[in-house]
Amino acid sequence: MLFKKKKFERSVSLKKDVMDSISSYCKIKHPNESILILKGKSKKGNILIDGLVIPPFSHTGPTFAGFPQSFLPFDMSYLGIVHSHPSGSAEPSLTDLHNFFGLVSLIVQFPYADEDIFAWDSKGNSIKLDIV
Ligand SMILES: [Zn+2]
Repeated sequence: MLFKKKKFERSVSLKKDVMDSISSYCKIKHPNESILILKGKSKKGNILIDGLVIPPFSHTGPTFAGFPQSFLPFDMSYLGIVHSHPSGSAEPSLTDLHNFFGLVSLIVQFPYADEDIFAWDSKGNSIKLDIV
């Protein structure tokens, strides 16, 4: 008998109301970048995002959004961050990869619709994302 080892495939599920909040937050901040902390659960590579937190001491500009991670309380429900790219490409920049936080990084590109959001791992590989 052949036992095929199941490939460890990660996926991200994003709640629709969370997507709507991300979208409106990014629109308010546009043309500056916005950044938010993703809250939820992770189980066997399946990441469910069901909440958002506005990071403390965040500073944003047209090309950079960040916050000092040392100010973050230790919280297991913090799964990563989402930030916007007002210029319109959802590819992670080198700065993004250097500042990677948590399990997943979501990037939403202008005009911040449901199809403008993408999930990335710490190496810049894309992760499957579903809005649920
Ligand atoms: Zn970025």
